[in-house]
Amino acid sequence: MTDFKATRQLFQIPDGMTYLVGNSLGPMPHTAQTRVENLMKRDWANQIVGGWRSGGENKQGWFVQPGQIGDRIGKLIGAPAGSTIVGDTLSLKVYQALGAALAMRPDRKIILSDAGNFPTDLYMVQSLIKSLRQGHELKIVGPHKIAEHLNEQVAALLITEVDYRTSQLHSMKDLTAKAHKVGALTVWDLAHSAGALPIDVTETQADFAVGCTYKFLNGGPGAPAFIYVAPKHLSQTEPLLAGWMGHAQPFDFDTEYKPSPTIERMRVGTPPVLGMAALDGALDVWDQVELSDIRTKTIELGQMLVELIGEKRPQLKLESPVDPHKRGSHLAFSHPNGYAIVQALIADKIMADFRAPDTIRFAITPLYIGAEDLAYAVDKLAHILASDSWDKPQFMAMGKVT
Ligand SMILES: *Cc1c(COP(=O)(O)O)cnc(C)c1O
Repeated sequence: MTDFKATRQLFQIPDGMTYLVGNSLGPMPHTAQTRVENLMKRDWANQIVGGWRSGGENKQGWFVQPGQIGDRIGKLIGAPAGSTIVGDTLSLKVYQALGAALAMRPDRKIILSDAGNFPTDLYMVQSLIKSLRQGHELKIVGPHKIAEHLNEQVAALLITEVDYRTSQLHSMKDLTAKAHKVGALTVWDLAHSAGALPIDVTETQADFAVGCTYKFLNGGPGAPAFIYVAPKHLSQTEPLLAGWMGHAQPFDFDTEYKPSPTIERMRVGTPPVLGMAALDGALDVWDQVELSDIRTKTIELGQMLVELIGEKRPQLKLESPVDPHKRGSHLAFSHPNGYAIVQALIADKIMADFRAPDTIRFAITPLYIGAEDLAYAVDKLAHILASDSWDKPQFMAMGKVT
């Protein structure tokens, strides 16, 4: 059993702050801080270029870390060793994964996605279509209509398992099975799932999966993304963004690109060593927790939040599915003054966030949030609403980042 009182001690959270935005950027695990400090004070400082090398006391093996860290993430998503690698940003990994899927279905032109998908995923599809110039088409349907639009014209389904706005949880197993039945491939975006719920890319037979590591995995701002390729597809997977680090022999400095036979082919250029250090340190947290415990606790705490808000502030409308098994790890409520309410909450050190046009999101992250935090947050929220204290000019001004 995961000891959630103990896991809370693994994170640096400012005194007095109730942090309900772990779905946007996780707080800093102490182990991440230590790893970055070691890198700065010890490894980079003393080894300099030698840090790239492996196999010796003063050799950090930065070069091979993308695959090693990929394997650590692989364990959290049900991927076998050698099928997951980190690097770049999620936007780029979406582009790469989808490009690889399309190359495997050259006779089909439809890319299916849903209106609840995160905009960057859809933008990357549009830019991929422009680059390829092969007449592909992006079809965006309602989040509940995906299954009915899966047919034999669809080359690939690009879908985010947990909707970033409503928290609707799509069934990886059912949709992948339906896609395969009509011969389509699947690219699953696990941005809001990795580190939040049990995932099994092997059992569900996902073809490709991608995700970011700074949300529920707490890898730090700008931490590299990950990509998973089902082992049976690896040899036919075109890297699309062919960089030297994905070459079979990067240090041959060949003028012709030859993809690595391994998952390394999904690498592009030099990996972000500082970001990887923070991520690798952050992943130590997962050595002592069970994702199934996190899921159980998330459901319990989520129900509590829904009930508390329902009792105290019925004017906030639940936008997430009512059935806790059909949603991910955040809860979305709508209110016409959502933006100002969130700013008033933040002024009270209750960190929540807002997504246009009217959605307030609260992330449930049992690793460092418990029942008493939620009760406290709802009390503050009730007070803000009862006193209309959100109705002030300083809470209305929209920043560049919401
Ligand atoms: C957070 C998120 C992203 C962010 O992409 P970056 O390239 O890391 O900025 C993309 N897609 C989804 C579904 C997300 O939730």
